[in-house]
Amino acid sequence: MPTYVYDFDEPTDGGRELLGGKGIGLAEMTQLGVPVPAGFTITTDACRAYMASGGELPEGLEEEIDQHLARLEEKAGKRFGEPTNPLLVSVRSGAAVSMPGMMDTILNVGLNDQAVVSEEHFLLDSYRRLIQMYGEIVEGIDAHRFEEALDDDDLPKTIERFKEIYREGTGREFPQDAKEQLGRAVTAVFDSWNTPRAQAYRRHNKIPHDLGTAVNVVQMVFGNKGERSGTGVAFTRDPSTGEGGLYGEFLADAQGEDVVAGTHTPDPVAALRERIPEAFDELVATMRRLEDHYKDMQDIEFTVEDGKLYLLQTRSAKRTAAAALKAAVDMVDEGLITREEAVARIDPGQLDQLLHPRIDPEAAYEVVATGLNASPGAASGGIVFDADTAEDKGKNGTAVILVRWETTPDDIHGMIAARGILTAHGGMTSHAAVVARGMGKPCVAGCEALSLDAKAKTASLNGHKLAEGDVITIDGGTGEVIIGEVRLIEPDINEDFETVLGWADDLRRLKVRANADTPEDAAKAREFGAEGIGLCRTEHMFMAEDRLPVVREMIMASDEDERRAALGRLLPHQQADFEGIFEAMAGLPVTIRLLDPPLHEFLPPLDQASDDRMRSRIRALQEANPMLGTRGCRLGLQFPEIYEMQVRAVIRAAAAVQERTGDAPLVEIMHPLVAFQEELRRLRELTVEVASEEAETDYLVGTMIELPRACVRADEIAEEADFFSFGTNDLTQTALGFSRDDAEGKFLTHYLQDGVLERNPFETLDQGGVGDLMAIAVERGRTTRPELKMGICGEHGGEPASVAFCHTLGLDYVSCSPYRVPLARLAAAQAALAEAGVEAVSVGG
Ligand code: ADP
Ligand code: MG
Ligand code: MG
Repeated sequence: MPTYVYDFDEPTDGGRELLGGKGIGLAEMTQLGVPVPAGFTITTDACRAYMASGGELPEGLEEEIDQHLARLEEKAGKRFGEPTNPLLVSVRSGAAVSMPGMMDTILNVGLNDQAVVSEEHFLLDSYRRLIQMYGEIVEGIDAHRFEEALDDDDLPKTIERFKEIYREGTGREFPQDAKEQLGRAVTAVFDSWNTPRAQAYRRHNKIPHDLGTAVNVVQMVFGNKGERSGTGVAFTRDPSTGEGGLYGEFLADAQGEDVVAGTHTPDPVAALRERIPEAFDELVATMRRLEDHYKDMQDIEFTVEDGKLYLLQTRSAKRTAAAALKAAVDMVDEGLITREEAVARIDPGQLDQLLHPRIDPEAAYEVVATGLNASPGAASGGIVFDADTAEDKGKNGTAVILVRWETTPDDIHGMIAARGILTAHGGMTSHAAVVARGMGKPCVAGCEALSLDAKAKTASLNGHKLAEGDVITIDGGTGEVIIGEVRLIEPDINEDFETVLGWADDLRRLKVRANADTPEDAAKAREFGAEGIGLCRTEHMFMAEDRLPVVREMIMASDEDERRAALGRLLPHQQADFEGIFEAMAGLPVTIRLLDPPLHEFLPPLDQASDDRMRSRIRALQEANPMLGTRGCRLGLQFPEIYEMQVRAVIRAAAAVQERTGDAPLVEIMHPLVAFQEELRRLRELTVEVASEEAETDYLVGTMIELPRACVRADEIAEEADFFSFGTNDLTQTALGFSRDDAEGKFLTHYLQDGVLERNPFETLDQGGVGDLMAIAVERGRTTRPELKMGICGEHGGEPASVAFCHTLGLDYVSCSPYRVPLARLAAAQAALAEAGVEAVSVGG
C-alpha cells in the first residue's frame, strides 16, 4: 500500500509533485531548522486516488492520518479533542503549482464548546473563526451571513449566532467531535481542487486538471494572543522594484487570513522591530537563511505567538520584470548565484512588460470594450477617423489614435503619425495588425463593440458615443479599450536589463536578428541588440504613399515596356530605402526578401477603381485563395522585371553605402515561397545576371522555406541556395492547412478553449508537425551544403519556446520584431544553458 502521509521532518523523494508547493516548503524549512510548527502532509497521490474513486478516501489513509496525528500530539504535548488545552491544527491546501487564493484552508480545527469554557479571548476568537471557515468551506454556507453577524466586542454572542447560522444552513449542530472536523476538513480541501473557480483558473493558466492538491495539517500557533502576538507576510526584497531589504506587512493580535482579507489595515513589517524586537531579529535572520538556501527571493508567511516567531510558508516571490532583473543582478553581486543562474531565472516573456509603454498597474480604469490584442503596448490619444487627419494632428505633436473599420495601404501615413490603432474589423493578420506589429505600435483589432460613421466622424463604443478628438486609451497587449486617458509607464532598458542581456550574449550560440522594413526599425533593432536583419519585406516600400501610384501604374501596364518604365521610376526609391537600412546595419547581414504579396493587394477595392480598365485588371487579378495564389517567386517568374529592378536596387544601394561609409552590409537576397528547385534555379540565374551588370559586391542568394515541399526537397533546393530562412508563419499555414485569418477567432479559438490544441501554433511553433518539417529541411539541406546558413524569420523567432527549439535544431540565427530582440537574446541564452544542464527556475511556487 502506498504511503499517503509524511511528517514535515520525514524525508521523501517525492518532491513538489507529491507534497505540493506548501508541503515541500514546510518540509524543507523544518529540515533546515527554521522554526515551523510541527505537522504532516497528505500527498497529492491521496487526492488523486480520492478523485479517481469519485470521492472515497483511499484505503488506509484514515489509519495513516491517525498515526501521524498521534505523533503530532506527542511532539506538541497536547491531545487532539481534549476538553482542556487541546491540540489544534490548520488544514491547508497546497498544490504543486501555485494557484493563489483558489483553494481553501481551515484554521483552529479541534475546538469545541468545552474547549472554550475558560472564555479566554484568543480561544473564543479562534472558535468563531473555525465555525465560520468550516461553515463556508465544508458546508458551503454564504460567507456574508457570518460577516454580517460578526461582533468583535461580544465573542460569546457571536459564537452563538454563528452556530445558529450553521444550524440554519445545514440542519445540524456544529460538530463537537475533533476527528469528525478533521476528516471533513480534509475532504473539503480535496474537493476545493475542483471548484468552478479553481477549474477556470487552471484552464486560464494551462495547468493540468489531474494534479490534485496536497493537504497540510499544521499545529496551530496563535497570532491572536494579544499585543506580543501577530501575523504577517514578508518578502526578502521588494517585489515591485527588487530593492534589497525586508518588505512586508504585520498585523498585531490577529490570525493569518486577516492580513490578506483586507478587513484590517496592517502595519509595515518594520513595526515589528519596535513591538517585538527579538521576533523581528529572528525574522530578519531567518529570511536571510531562506534566501541563502533557495538562492532566490522568497515570499513568506509568519506568525508570532507570545514573542516567539514561526514560519508557515515560503515560496519564490512573484515579482515584476524590473524587480526580477534588479534582484538577479544584486544576487550575482552578493555571490548568491552565478551569472548563468541569473540568466536562467528571468522569464523572457515577462520582459515584454518593459519593452512597450503600458498601463500603470496602480491606475484605476474601466474597460468599455475588448478587441484582439494585435500589437502590444498601450497608448492614449484623441481619436481620428482618417489617415490624413491623423497625419496633420500627429505632425503637430498631438497624440492621436487612428480609429478605422479596417486599415489599408492608403492609411500608412496616418498609422505612422498615430500613437495607436483601433479597428472594428479584421484579425491578427489584418493589415492593421501586421503593420502595427512591424512598427512596434499598439493596436487593438477586430473590436466588435465599435461601430463607426466615418463621414460624420463619430463612433459608438459599446453604446458610448464618441466624436473626433475624444480621448481613449488602448492596450494592444490585452485588447482593452478605455474611454479617457489612463496613466502609462514608458518602456525602459535600464542598467540591470543591459547587464543581464550582456551576460546572456556571452552564453548564447544563436545569433539574433530583427525583422525590419525601414531605417527607423533597423536602428531601433540595433539599439536592442540585433545582429542584422533576418527579414526586410520590400512590399511595405511599395505601399508608401508616394510609391503606390507608380506601383499601380506598373500593375496596370499593358506590356512589358510600360511595366519597365514604371519600375524604372520605382528603382531610385527602392534603392534609397535600402541605403537607409544598410547604413543602419553597417557591417551586419541584411536579408532582403523580394516582393511577396499578390499584386491585387496594391490595387484599390473594386468599387473604388478609377475606370473600367482598372476594374477589369482588378477582376483579372482576383484570387479565390490569395494565400496560395500568384505570389512570392511565382510572381517573380511571371514578371521577372520586378525582381530585376529589386536586385538592381539592392546591389546599387550596397555599393553606394560601401563607397560612402566603407562599411557595407552583408547582403542576402531572398526568394520567397519556393517549392521547386527549378524555381530557385531560374531566380538565382536572374539574380546573378543582374548583379553582374552592376557593381562588384558580395552577396548571397537564398530562399525562404515556407512550403512543406521545400522542406522535404531541401537537398535539391540547397543546390541553388546559400541560405535558408524558415518562414514559419506561412509554413504553419501550409503544413497545418490553416488559413490564419480563418482560424484565429474562429475554429482555432474553439480548439484552444476545448483543449483540442494546447497552444496557438501561430504563436508557439508546432514542434511536432512544423518542427519536424524544419528538422527534415535542416538535415537534407546540410547534406547538400554542410555550410548552408539557416535561420528563422517567422513571428516564432521571438517566442521563447520556439527559440529554444531553433537552438536545438542547430539554426544559426532567429529573427523577430525589433521589440522582441531582447527577449530572443535571453531565450537563446536559456536554450544554451538548458543544453548544459542549467534549467530555468519557475518563480512563484
Ligand atoms: P493560503 O494558501 O490561502 O495562504 P494558507 O494555508 O497558507 O492559505 O493559510 C491561510 C492563512 O492562515 C495564512 O496566513 C497562514 O499563515 C495561516 N495559517 C495556516 N496555518 C496556520 C497555523 N497552523 N497556525 C497559524 N496560522 C496558520
Ligand atoms: Mg498561504
Ligand atoms: Mg511567407
